[in-house]
Amino acid sequence: MALIVQKYGGTSVADADRLKRVAHRIADTRREGNQVLVVVSAMGKTTDDLIALADQVSSNPPAREMDMLLTAGERISMALLAMAIHAEGLEAVSFTGSQAGILTSEAHGEAKIEEIRGFRVQESLDEGKVVIVAGFQGVSPRTKEVTTLGRGGSDASAVALAAAFGADVCEICTDVDGVFTADPRIVPNARKLDEISTEEMLELAAAGAGVLMARSVEFGRRFNIPIHVRSSFHDAPGTWVKEKTMEEAIISGIAHDTSEAKITVHGVPDRPGIAATLFEQMAGHQVNVDMIVQNVSIDGSTDISFTVPRSTSATALEVTEQLASEIGAAGVDIDTDIAKVSLVGAGMKSHPGVAARVFRALSDSDINIEMISTSTIRISCVVRSDRVEDAVRSLHAAFEAELVGEEADV
Ligand code: ADP
Ligand code: ASP
Ligand code: MG
Repeated sequence: MALIVQKYGGTSVADADRLKRVAHRIADTRREGNQVLVVVSAMGKTTDDLIALADQVSSNPPAREMDMLLTAGERISMALLAMAIHAEGLEAVSFTGSQAGILTSEAHGEAKIEEIRGFRVQESLDEGKVVIVAGFQGVSPRTKEVTTLGRGGSDASAVALAAAFGADVCEICTDVDGVFTADPRIVPNARKLDEISTEEMLELAAAGAGVLMARSVEFGRRFNIPIHVRSSFHDAPGTWVKEKTMEEAIISGIAHDTSEAKITVHGVPDRPGIAATLFEQMAGHQVNVDMIVQNVSIDGSTDISFTVPRSTSATALEVTEQLASEIGAAGVDIDTDIAKVSLVGAGMKSHPGVAARVFRALSDSDINIEMISTSTIRISCVVRSDRVEDAVRSLHAAFEAELVGEEADV
């Protein structure tokens, strides 16, 4: 008997009708003779709504209480889904992350899954039940507190559970037909990829393609779990994330990210050790720095700009201002109206001129590039946030000939 892990995202379970449709689909998979382990996200925009509520009662909510609050979202959807499966005439049982034995680090809001002790899940699967596990959550064995895994974390829950139980496949069932060459909401003629390599999917996810959480792709790679991103509304095949694909596309896709802010320190004395101190302090405060640019030095001083997730930009700004006054820098400013656009493709390693074409396409659309960073298979540019959608469309058009896949019928 095959074990299939199916993860359903928020839009797919947004209301009672959709929950019933998902329950029907799960029941069909079970009736076909498979064991089914389901991971479910909170309904619709529940997580956003809970965050907004917390903001209304506190400007700085304690991280522990935030996790207590947010884990409630998935608790609602898991119980309702179990009820809907019962109504289909099948046995189903729901478990919180903690009950499912998902053990994590203690970092509230960004916990990492360390181990899964899935006795209860295994027992229920063996009894023939459909098991539903709340996504995005676990428990820290050290603090005994409930934790969350970061936004989009149900994807990580699903792939980690698939690895722990040796599932045959991890299906990420969502509101689009698969992984596209760009966000289909922004580029209506984006194309659906039949398959994508883990390396490229990791870069796209890390560059902001929200369809899969980057950490879930890492799990998939580490434990060799086939991931199938597909629609939760119909049965057509979606996109397979594979270690090796049949063909290597020159460009696999374009991603964008509007979640970062840029901090600039002006008039930094140009001597050894300043950058080391600044970024050591960022690391010490758990701030993930993404891009860094240091200008040429003029009269012994320079400017350093870097980007950080907007969620940690207040901490980053405070730390930078403190350091700037200690070292006698001229000043610090923060810019929250930035966004990043990235072109990803394994073939760019062996095709010269891709960067030049990116810059030309943006320039032809009159979009100014403020920062640039590259990896062997990615080129990212920071632009004004109100131009990022144009930037995605202009790169998609410029690389049309190199992009593979089928056009979306949206
Ligand atoms: P879920 O609630 O199912 O987890 P998400 O909203 O997290 O769904 O992810 C699906 C969304 O990701 C899509 O609706 C789409 O707008 C967005 N997206 C961004 N980039 C891509 C891409 N390259 N391919 C497909 N979808 C993408
Ligand atoms: N509900 C969580 C979120 O909105 C987790 C998820 O959907 O994957 O981020
Ligand atoms: Mg998601």
